Amino acid sequence: MITINERIHTLPKVDLHLHLDGSVLPETIIDLARESGATLPAWEPEQLIPYMKVEGECESLAEYLDKFHFVGEFLHTAHALERVAYELVSQANDQNCPYIEVRFAPQLHCNKGLSMDEVIEHVLIGLKRGEEEFGVIARVIAICLRGHSEEMNEAVVDAAARFFGKGIVAVDLAGAEAAFPPEVYEHIFAKAGQLGLPITIHAGEAAGASSVETAVRMLGATRIGHGVRMREDASVMELIKSRRIPLELCPISNLQTKAVASWDDYPLRDYFDQGFIVTVNTDNLTVSDTTITKEYEMLQKHLNFTEEELCQIVRNGVEAAFIQGEEKDKLRKEMELKLTQWLKSYAPSTTA
Ligand SMILES: [Zn+2]
Repeated sequence: MITINERIHTLPKVDLHLHLDGSVLPETIIDLARESGATLPAWEPEQLIPYMKVEGECESLAEYLDKFHFVGEFLHTAHALERVAYELVSQANDQNCPYIEVRFAPQLHCNKGLSMDEVIEHVLIGLKRGEEEFGVIARVIAICLRGHSEEMNEAVVDAAARFFGKGIVAVDLAGAEAAFPPEVYEHIFAKAGQLGLPITIHAGEAAGASSVETAVRMLGATRIGHGVRMREDASVMELIKSRRIPLELCPISNLQTKAVASWDDYPLRDYFDQGFIVTVNTDNLTVSDTTITKEYEMLQKHLNFTEEELCQIVRNGVEAAFIQGEEKDKLRKEMELKLTQWLKSYAPSTTA
């Protein structure tokens, strides 16, 4: 007898919102610490996990972001970056997820002498190795950070432009949304736009609907990271709908950071029913203690999504993916075939 989890595990999925530094395996941190002679508060994965993931729900996005500092210390060498990038592709493959967009802030990995370009290069080497081994497509979104200087963020955009079409597919803005509204970064994203880089912005997670509106109107976002709180303003919802802007929702993370109070209050079902381009993603495999399978399982469990509807969410993700042209056509065809096979592969039992 197949269980729901096994069933959802076999659903072909995509993950468009996936942070590299939030998805590092505890075993890997232990190896990296041993190799570099660093000290750790614990040397067994189970004992290290509390330093790397949030316990249940945390108080805020700020508390959630604290977990990244612990892991970040270990990600400043070519070897470490290649390894964690490769392992992320392996983790995607384990969850039947043949397309991922991995995001990271290259400027956070330069403490031991690597340049931003070198950081990006080594992540791309790790992803490429994973792509070749597992047949998963893994592309990169470079993150500008709230609170960083204009010079620093401009350097990220310039580096992203140099790798655009060579692994990088877009740029993003992340960090403490409530303290740093999108308008502060208008100049940076105007430049990204001039360089032809597609833009997604973390918005409507720790701040309200106006943050989503500014991300679209002022920063040129064509996708929104989260967007949970856009429902606070009907005119912003209209803007997102009329421009057909995909939302990168990350249900388990959104509950943990208190972007919503509970599953009952989570707007994903409403957004889907109203025809928004809803996509479902993980945000951070380790920090949120999640997998893309678990996220889809929650949709069934808490939001009553049917199998056909789950397939539609996967299709939305494929359409929203930043890859373009023939590559995207190929992915669309392959995913459509897999989804059709998946739906046919199992007739739900009618017996009690
Ligand atoms: Zn995120």
